[in-house]
Amino acid sequence: MSNALVTEKKLSNFINGEWVSAQQDHFAPVVNPANGEKLIDVPLSSQEDVNQAVEAAKKAQKEWALVPAPQRAEVLYRVGYIMKERKEHLSQILTMENGKVIEEARGEVQEGIDMAFYMAGEGRRLFGHTTPAELKDKFAMSQRAPVGVVGIITPWNFPIAIATWKSFPAIVAGNAVIWKPATETPMMAYEMAKIFVEAGLPNGVVNVVFGSGSEVGDAMVEHSDIRVISFTGSNETGRTIAGKCGQLLKKVSLEMGGKNAVIVMDDANLDLAVQGIIWSAYGTSGQRCTACSRVIVHESVKEQLEERLLAEIDHLTIGDGLDEQNKVGPIINEAGLRKIEKYVQIGQEEGARLLAGGNALNEGDLNKGYYFAPTLFTDVKPDMRIAKEEIFGPVLSIIPVKDLDEAIEVNNDVAFGLSSSIFTQDINKVFKAQRDLDTGIVYVNAGTTGAEIHLPFGGTKGTGNGHRDSGQAALDVFTEWKAVYVDFSGKLQRAQIDVE
Ligand code: NAP
Repeated sequence: MSNALVTEKKLSNFINGEWVSAQQDHFAPVVNPANGEKLIDVPLSSQEDVNQAVEAAKKAQKEWALVPAPQRAEVLYRVGYIMKERKEHLSQILTMENGKVIEEARGEVQEGIDMAFYMAGEGRRLFGHTTPAELKDKFAMSQRAPVGVVGIITPWNFPIAIATWKSFPAIVAGNAVIWKPATETPMMAYEMAKIFVEAGLPNGVVNVVFGSGSEVGDAMVEHSDIRVISFTGSNETGRTIAGKCGQLLKKVSLEMGGKNAVIVMDDANLDLAVQGIIWSAYGTSGQRCTACSRVIVHESVKEQLEERLLAEIDHLTIGDGLDEQNKVGPIINEAGLRKIEKYVQIGQEEGARLLAGGNALNEGDLNKGYYFAPTLFTDVKPDMRIAKEEIFGPVLSIIPVKDLDEAIEVNNDVAFGLSSSIFTQDINKVFKAQRDLDTGIVYVNAGTTGAEIHLPFGGTKGTGNGHRDSGQAALDVFTEWKAVYVDFSGKLQRAQIDVE
């Protein structure tokens, strides 16, 4: 074991406030992608473990829903404070299991802390509406009601932030949660379960079941007592889950892939644009759903932009994310590395011009982990596969265009719609772009990444199915609207009939 921060050898499921061994004795190793060392073993649970967690959650939820929301919120405040105290510890473990550099890990943990305080505030809001009734001596209102037991399925690339986007609104709204983290990154779930206990969350309100998507995730999707599935991950998995939930008439919220672009106009501050692009394209080694993988540049500044990007790429230090000097960490695993290599080959075969990178890195200590050189293609055509498909690695494509209209058209002509950005000094272009870019998130004079937790997070088209994580919109996933009519006239008043 590489680091004293990891003291356990095997993880257990967290069910009804207790650490419980999975029914079958199967485990998978969790590997630090920076150096290939095994960190811990994670159980590969089964349907029986999911059933056990759901039984505990059902019982706990009945009580939890009756706790006044401001008191439910107090638990989240305590969760936020504990996370704050433990920020460095959580960040280091996050870097070890996921690979992202420590500065970014601290940012991700901070996002969870922010979400705790934001959603705790919702405990004193959770607003519904009162509205005039159409009959005399009658009162009408709507209120948010918890859904019941909810299932959250999270990916490896933001193992703590995404879990907080989903579990915190679910908790404050009075639901109980079954959480299946990605098998590659289970340790954040283990750490969060400990924090929930310390914060005084009643047993059974949050349950963690470790295991594969095909077994544990699928059992959650199929379970009739799990009323909502909130999923973040790939498009392929999301479609499978959506199909099953559709058949079962189960509410499902999907946050999936992206093919995000930065538009650079001829009047842009190029130094600023370069900083935004480098951060968005190569941060988290390009393994963000909001990663910039296309630069749509006005042809008159294309060469200048390329030169400046190449100079910056040269300065990117690559290696273990625990070393503060490193700016780019590893790829999550061997399969991820091979997928990126395949796309580089596809790009070259399609006729794109490789300006930088394009290869896995094996020199010195890098050969112990999974590293890929920051890669830059130019003269990319909008219809090439590298300009259309999510690569999920540090691969950036430059696409030249003639004007803003063409830039917007190219931006929108992909199957995804998560995040977009424009660099320009022209206020008219700013407003036109924010109106016409078909993405759930638009940035002006900033890269494609950097969402704040009090605004809705999610995308259009193949990125999602119309729901949003984060912000107040997240409450819509985890609550049902209930309309309440109170007639205090003492007689039967029939709506729409006794209106004279
Ligand atoms: P993934 O392979 O789809 O896995 C996501 C989660 O789903 C994991 O916990 C996985 O479990 C589980 N899963 C797999 N098959 C399942 C099934 N049949 N039923 C139920 N659950 C199943 O995605 P990933 O590779 O981890 O994540 C990368 C993707 O997430 C990228 O496409 C990225 O763009 C997207 N993402 C989107 C957002 C957003 O908000 N839009 C944010 C972050 C990431 P196991 O892996 O443990 O088997």
